[in-house]
Amino acid sequence: MKILVLNTGSSSIKFQLFAMPEQVVLASGLVEKIGEASGAVHYRNTNDSGEQNIVHETMVQDHGVGLTEILNLLLDGSTGVISSTDEIVAVGHRVVHGGVYFSQPTVIQKDVLIDLKRISYLAPLHNPACIKGIEVAEDCFTKAAQIAVFDTAFHQSIPDYAYRFAIPKEYHDQHGLRAYGFHGTSHKYVMKRAAGHLNIALGDFHAITIHLGNGCSMAAIQNGKCIDTSMGLTPLGGLMMGTRSGDIDPSVLLFLSAHLDMSTHEIDQLLNKRSGLKGLTGTNDLRSILAKYDEDDVDAKLAIAMYVYRIKKYIGAYAAALGRLDAVVFTAGVGENSAAIRTMVCDKLGILGIELDDTRNTALDRGTCSIQSEKSNVNILVVPTNEELEIAIQTFDVVQSRQ
Ligand code: AMP
Repeated sequence: MKILVLNTGSSSIKFQLFAMPEQVVLASGLVEKIGEASGAVHYRNTNDSGEQNIVHETMVQDHGVGLTEILNLLLDGSTGVISSTDEIVAVGHRVVHGGVYFSQPTVIQKDVLIDLKRISYLAPLHNPACIKGIEVAEDCFTKAAQIAVFDTAFHQSIPDYAYRFAIPKEYHDQHGLRAYGFHGTSHKYVMKRAAGHLNIALGDFHAITIHLGNGCSMAAIQNGKCIDTSMGLTPLGGLMMGTRSGDIDPSVLLFLSAHLDMSTHEIDQLLNKRSGLKGLTGTNDLRSILAKYDEDDVDAKLAIAMYVYRIKKYIGAYAAALGRLDAVVFTAGVGENSAAIRTMVCDKLGILGIELDDTRNTALDRGTCSIQSEKSNVNILVVPTNEELEIAIQTFDVVQSRQ
């Protein structure tokens, strides 16, 4: 069964075409700068004649044209991997915000689109683009099932005392103000991989998953269900990130508004785009910050210390919330690739039974690896995340359940 996974942004469409249940990627790529003067289509396939990489620079007027470009490459005699659009049985869409409506992958019907539009105010930068992706895919793939997979869904099991804000209840009841959490597809994927690797039944698995990419978040997992996460109403809360501040005393926002006369838009840009590692060091690329750290650069030292300290605080908090811990799981660009950050995060966590093995930490194989020492009471794992594959798996499961 062929399943197309789409991740639609305001000016881009990322895609992967999977053969399921084999979990083989047949083609993948990206359409970028949609609506701009100079766009580009990147396409990679694996077919009988080997692997091809194509970059095609062209103006892409809108998302409909972008998806048609992808489709043409998928169908083309020399680059293609399908002979008809009907071969694609389902399209799995990454949808950022599902609000309280969606805790499972969902077949997209009219009422679902209405609900998605209704909650778009909660993710104004993301959900309108996802909706556009769904609408153009419905036009291109008239026979395929369209399935929405939500970044927020995995966190819908969080109890109210953890997701509510301590403000008058009408703001929750009337406006939906509460923590929702994001990166759920990644946390769920690495949780399942980690439990499988350790041979622990998911329903009995207690873990802290740490997604450290450009965006960073953590999840506390009890019996295979999320009971807390670091991001909140939007992906701005929690850990310090590439360009986002993470948690901040709310009175800072009041100060920026009242004393510096900043508008809502300016504060939004400051906290989302000009803060975090970038705000403290001038770059959000952790590799170059680590290089400066090694040269004793003062800004890099402080930024890394703050970044690591916050992760450690969340580990302590989640260990207390969970009461039992089978594994700490690192994933995403930094979590998978930086032995130095993993070392700093795990330093002095012996009090929680978390002890790293330096040799294992620095010499990783591909795939899931255990990096704890023999003395450690808690497993420490590095698990490469794969959100597209998780979307394909969930989409496949929905299609199977309907047959
Ligand atoms: P992601 O959003 O998951 O693609 O992760 C992007 C982040 O991972 C960027 O901050 C990169 O600098 C960081 N990253 C990628 N490779 C490494 C590495 N080998 N060491 C440290 N950071 C890395």
